[in-house]
Amino acid sequence: MAVIGAGVMGCSTALHLARAGMKVLLLDRGPICREASGVNAGTLTMQMTRAALIPYALRAYEMWLRMGDWCDGGHVLGTACPGLSVAFTEQEAAMLEERARIRRQAGAPIEIVSGVRAREIEPGLSEKALIAGHCPMDGFASAYLTGRAFRPALLNAGVDLREDCAVRGIDAGFTLDTAQGRLDAARVVLSGGVWLEEMAGWLGVTLPIKTLINQLVVTERMAPVMRTVLGVASGLLSLKQYANGTVLIGGGWQGIGDRTRGGIAVKPESFLGNVRLAAHAVPALREARVVRAWLGLESETADALPAIGPIPGVPDAWIIGCVHSGYTSGPYMGRILAQAILGEAPELPLFPIDRLLAQEKAA
Ligand SMILES: Cc1cc2nc3c(=O)[nH]c(=O)nc-3n(C[C@H](O)[C@H](O)[C@H](O)COP(=O)(O)OP(=O)(O)OC[C@H]3O[C@@H](n4cnc5c(N)ncnc54)[C@H](O)[C@@H]3O)c2cc1C
Repeated sequence: MAVIGAGVMGCSTALHLARAGMKVLLLDRGPICREASGVNAGTLTMQMTRAALIPYALRAYEMWLRMGDWCDGGHVLGTACPGLSVAFTEQEAAMLEERARIRRQAGAPIEIVSGVRAREIEPGLSEKALIAGHCPMDGFASAYLTGRAFRPALLNAGVDLREDCAVRGIDAGFTLDTAQGRLDAARVVLSGGVWLEEMAGWLGVTLPIKTLINQLVVTERMAPVMRTVLGVASGLLSLKQYANGTVLIGGGWQGIGDRTRGGIAVKPESFLGNVRLAAHAVPALREARVVRAWLGLESETADALPAIGPIPGVPDAWIIGCVHSGYTSGPYMGRILAQAILGEAPELPLFPIDRLLAQEKAA
């Protein structure tokens, strides 16, 4: 089995397959988990996860927090804390209540609390907050540790890990044309993040993938200013303070780039909007100095639901990716794809891509 792309999706799939006894080759054109899976905001959240993915995210949340138990002691400093999604206007409040209701139905323990109660949970929160969605099962991780956490477990499981090994194409069979020569595999998993469109093309399948150029900001170390994962109802903010005092500010603000050249430049208006909103939500951040901003590429399908399942018309070829809030759900998604590949019934349903190919034909 060749797994192409060693982000969280590819690493988890490869690990679970190898542990079940399959001979697995895991290839990445760079080091493992240095694209989206190593540069993301690390929020492990139900409030930003789409309702359809909540059952997956709940299971994955436990996996991240107990990563040492199933990943040979590897960890990403998974931290459990409450999560708040805040409304500052009546319009946001209505949106928040509806979102919380849908996610609660899907199994996320989200309750609406008053602004006063929200400030008891998060004393750093602005007094302008009207209400908040409160989820006790929230938290965050240090995403830059993802590759370091997976690597020993992959090697212990016998995975043949090839970094700096770009795949350029796949011939029938499957023969992989790679930077380290031609490699043969009986089965293949494509787990290439935003590059899945190109990878699917190698197998003659047209699968349009959108690329988001997400921008993140981190502050200098500060005395404690907050203790939750904080967002706003509009979804344009994710905020948390790490144990070292730095505050990570995200929320899907877009920078400049594309999937050919990667992230090119921080967009000043996105930067300003993001930090202003952060300081509005947690006033103590007005004093914060920013030390760094960076970009990462996130993938999305046409209907914003994941691409996880067999590749139609190509026996023994599988795909995994484009999961919204995909870091949160990632380890579990890899586990269920591995179950399907091994011929077992996955614990929860996959998200086959037939629907996306049909949409394209209809368009
Ligand atoms: C800035 C940012 C912030 C985010 N914040 C959050 C968050 O707070 N919480 C959350 O849950 N999710 C978040 N996400 C989303 C999350 O990071 C992604 O959904 C998830 O990491 C995707 O994992 P992946 O394995 O599918 O893709 P990736 O991690 O991108 O992995 C794909 C891999 O394929 C490799 N590859 C590509 N082409 C080739 C080739 N030709 N040959 C070999 N290898 C190849 C790449 O090098 C890469 O390592 C964020 C994303 C970004 C970018």
